[in-house]
Amino acid sequence: MTTLSTTNRTQHFLDLEDRFGAHNYHPIPVVLARGQGCYLWDVEGKQYLDFLSAYSAVNQGHCHPRIIDALQAQARRLTLSSRAFYNDQLGEYEQTICNYFGYDKVLPMNTGVEAVETAVKLCRKWAYTHKGIPENKARIIVFDRNFHGRTLLAVSLSTDPSSYTQFGPFLPGFEKIPFDDDLALERAFSGGDIAGLLIEPIQGEAGVILPSDAFIRQCKRLCDQYGALFMADEIQTGLCRTGKMLACDYNGIRPDVLILGKALSGGVLPVSAVLADDEIMLSIRPGEHGSTFGGNPLACRVAIAALEVLKEEKLDENAFEMGNRFRSGLEELKRRHGRIREVRGRGLLNAMEMDVPSDSPVAWELCLKLADQGLLAKPTHGNIIRLAPPLCISNRDIDQALNILDAVLSQ
Ligand code: PLP
Repeated sequence: MTTLSTTNRTQHFLDLEDRFGAHNYHPIPVVLARGQGCYLWDVEGKQYLDFLSAYSAVNQGHCHPRIIDALQAQARRLTLSSRAFYNDQLGEYEQTICNYFGYDKVLPMNTGVEAVETAVKLCRKWAYTHKGIPENKARIIVFDRNFHGRTLLAVSLSTDPSSYTQFGPFLPGFEKIPFDDDLALERAFSGGDIAGLLIEPIQGEAGVILPSDAFIRQCKRLCDQYGALFMADEIQTGLCRTGKMLACDYNGIRPDVLILGKALSGGVLPVSAVLADDEIMLSIRPGEHGSTFGGNPLACRVAIAALEVLKEEKLDENAFEMGNRFRSGLEELKRRHGRIREVRGRGLLNAMEMDVPSDSPVAWELCLKLADQGLLAKPTHGNIIRLAPPLCISNRDIDQALNILDAVLSQ
């Protein structure tokens, strides 16, 4: 197996994590110490192009000066008040994000999975209070190969054995059906008591799987027809990643419940959000849901800056253009190298699937070689590499990444 040559300094940090950290990740053996824009530097001072963006949390680029300024200024004033009291930042943030996405209300949380959990609770509560589904009977449609996080709710939804095995018993009330299967979708709705549907408009962790546009529209149509909530998990696909503000914008769909996270803070703090209109959001009343850190003033200031940067720097347009340039380069590599089975993606959420079995070590080995050559990416499954740089990337860096991929594929 290929290993990176490591000096003592790098080895020191690898050993520390190995000795004292839980072994719940399998990282590429690079120890990062600094980031700026699309670049990262390790503890040896070696520079890399970042093609993971912390799983799409760093859409605005590492340590964006505007977001860091907001963080520093607010950190000196007030960081956390708890929701036991009002604070002078939360209301302004709520107004900003509601106007930005066109919803009546927002419920602020921290990590992505907490926002998913919040959306599911909201959907159930709304179904009992507004739709008249008998208590404890509400069902929510989810899709094979989904990824909504790692808590017990999220692994209860999962169809990936490495996510759920030996973590049961699981939460009931979910209807798992194949992605992109119209018949299964109609059957699930006709079974009754459907409170909502939870969908990633593009399945990121599954390997950047795009459903047909017709399928997504059918999901929304059936939600409308059966009076169920269309809940979009845009934690990975949202905030300009796919070349539009939301991936649902490609289909002209306004989700009933919109779930955001990751880049909502530009990768600075855990900040997530659930957006919905009054009829839905007001189903949850005081004391029924919350979080100590959700809506803290530091997060609010950072999130306002992160949202402003997306619009002011037109990161949707850059993601769209750079994504097209990158995918046509990848298609060219596919023609020349013959070991790539498929290139797919939208904007700067892309994947390269290798022509080997899904449990092969090939994607991992390629990622080690890419890191050696100065490009950081991570496999999702044994044969798929996700390629998702910060959205501020330039033509020059896209071409540099393609040159590195070319060199490594030629080896
Ligand atoms: N939903 C989607 C679509 C994700 O991609 C992720 C994380 O990768 C999550 C939810 C969970 O987010 P977090 O890791 O912040 O809990």
